[in-house]
Amino acid sequence: MVMEQIAGPLVVTEVPDAVAPAGGAVIEVHATGLCRSDWHAWVGHDDIALPHVPGHELAGVVVEVGAGVEKWAVGDRVTVPFVCGCGRCEWCRSGNAQVCPDQQQPGFTHWGSFAERVALHAADRNLVAVPESISFAAAAALGCRFATAYRALTARAQLAAGEWVVIVGAGGVGLSAVMIAKALGAKVIAVDRSTAALDVARTLGADEVIVADGRDVPEVVHAVTGGGAHVSVDAVGSEQTCADAIHSLRRRGRHVQVGLLPSASGLTPAPLARAIAWELDLLGSHGMAAEDYPGMLDLIARGTLHPQDLIERTVSLEQAAELLPVMDSASPAGMTMIDPRLTPSA
Ligand SMILES: [Zn+2]
Ligand SMILES: [Zn+2]
Repeated sequence: MVMEQIAGPLVVTEVPDAVAPAGGAVIEVHATGLCRSDWHAWVGHDDIALPHVPGHELAGVVVEVGAGVEKWAVGDRVTVPFVCGCGRCEWCRSGNAQVCPDQQQPGFTHWGSFAERVALHAADRNLVAVPESISFAAAAALGCRFATAYRALTARAQLAAGEWVVIVGAGGVGLSAVMIAKALGAKVIAVDRSTAALDVARTLGADEVIVADGRDVPEVVHAVTGGGAHVSVDAVGSEQTCADAIHSLRRRGRHVQVGLLPSASGLTPAPLARAIAWELDLLGSHGMAAEDYPGMLDLIARGTLHPQDLIERTVSLEQAAELLPVMDSASPAGMTMIDPRLTPSA
């Protein structure tokens, strides 16, 4: 799926085969998720070189390895975090490839996975083995939104059993966060404009849901929780949702910002006065390194977490080319998964 110009039509066409870079690998894509980040790139919020192939949430089979790759062979079932570290810097060596200053992101810094094949860098550092018990679709669902939600709630917010967490936004990240928070034993409030999305949040175990229809969301959260949530997550990324999430916290609460906040200046207004007076922790979260996957994969293999339940539909590349430009306004609750091997339905 090739993008020739910013906000232009997406065309499914033949391109030259991907080639494995030194230390990298080529993956035959079996499943790849359509994500709001793809829409951000399409409208021009990211610095991408054209022509471009989007796609950053993927799972598939290794079909070629580059020079120097030691851990992987043709035929291996793999997935990859959307942030691929260089494998050499101090952050990569300390297990924090998600903030590598020399990072690669398929579908952003180079051609991505909305294709039959995708080339990935630093395979020994970034690829993650997918056990036979986990489907390609479930594994692809992890790469960006699910892993991001997992890391946001565990390593960043350190959400504990019995705590209240308010999750603003019930799209892919938000619904993942609802599922993970319940598995951690927390009490969950989901907030969204869409009642359909909130219905899904309920089926995933949300204890309370709030329709963001102009009402004072923090006031409702404070009433429900008796003083505010211990943890808040902005899974949307807007001035309003960020402020609602932070204002929903109780004193000394922890906020995790996951939704992207693109702005021309790089600055977004946020209620820092409240953060000072109530000693709030404001945390950022940016994906999750390959090193941290085994704990999450173990919970999936044991059935505690089931990301495949978040997949709403599976489409072809041709269908995805129509859906991506309207992601911002017309995305359904749950995830849209692409299988590049599907032919367009009549
Ligand atoms: Zn994504
Ligand atoms: Zn690095």
